[in-house]
Amino acid sequence: MTVLEEKKPRLKSDPSQRITSAEALSYYKNMDLLELGARANEIRFQKNPKPIVTFVIDSNPNYTNVCVTDCSFCAFYRKPGSVDAYTLTLEQVLEKVKFASDQGATTVLLQGGHNPELPFRYYLDLVREVRKRFPQITPHFFTASEIQTMAQVSKLPIEEVLRQLKQAGQVSLPGGGAEILSERVRKRISPKKGGPDKWLEVHRAAHRLGIKSTAMMMYGHVEEADEIVEHLERIRQLQDETGGFTAFVPWSFKPNNTPLQKKIVHRPSANQYLRILALSRIYLDNFPHIQATWFSEGKKTGQAALHFGADDFGGTLFEENVHRATNHINRTTLEEIQTLIRESGFQPAQRDTLYNILKN
Ligand code: SF4
Repeated sequence: MTVLEEKKPRLKSDPSQRITSAEALSYYKNMDLLELGARANEIRFQKNPKPIVTFVIDSNPNYTNVCVTDCSFCAFYRKPGSVDAYTLTLEQVLEKVKFASDQGATTVLLQGGHNPELPFRYYLDLVREVRKRFPQITPHFFTASEIQTMAQVSKLPIEEVLRQLKQAGQVSLPGGGAEILSERVRKRISPKKGGPDKWLEVHRAAHRLGIKSTAMMMYGHVEEADEIVEHLERIRQLQDETGGFTAFVPWSFKPNNTPLQKKIVHRPSANQYLRILALSRIYLDNFPHIQATWFSEGKKTGQAALHFGADDFGGTLFEENVHRATNHINRTTLEEIQTLIRESGFQPAQRDTLYNILKN
């Protein structure tokens, strides 16, 4: 065998056969992008045979930018006492939810900094009041590290925090705050956040209580290829255990205005995004959906992603502030989302937070 043949991996003859992490790494590093995409697309149609691409009408407001966790990739947060630090009252958050509701949103992804001044009751009231006043909206609230913050301020175990949130009406958690689930990476970019095991612990506990969640990945900073595979491996293992993830959502790091900007090892490209997306569709054989992120990667790359294994186009994102803090601004309308999906050769279908189709 020549050196070249050794490097180029071969796809398994049966696309439904699970691939190992070593095979995933080899696919990621050495496989032709179009070959990888074709296999991902094949698997996508095995899982979801109809040429339907879903999207959600949603908004991503924030309740506070005050944070004590100092992640080096974050341009959004402010230290307590900063002149432009803010924390919204319950009524102010509800105004934002009303704005989303008036535009037809069915999902609100609410997240914020780790503000130790906020009592646990604040979060419970947010969920309860949104459920009461806007029954058509699913509160897709609070990432794993915000749940950890609630556990710290309330001195309750994570399971109890989640149980009370569920009692208040929460059925779904967003998958943010995972970055790359590798100890080395997390120590470099978010050392105060609790590490990969904590993120997994929160999602495991949520799934056990019947709360569904998404899994995200933010790549394109200091991670290496094997750490991307490690991230996929850890979420696949948890999904084998609980079955609680609805979708995987990768997106690339936006460096402007962040301390991490100067330390980037691998600057992300559209090629890398499509490679990760396709690999995730192949490797995450137990995930029902892979989401394309038009917002983070651009509309054209988002459209291309629908031919590399993605079967969901994300949301309308009527409000977004985290990427905005890095000067990354991208907007759309409901009509444009539907057009972008159609232009890519698929039929658009509006879904809810849990990926049930509402309208097509
Ligand atoms: S990413 Fe979240 S936890 Fe980290 S500094 Fe920003 S707001 Fe705080």
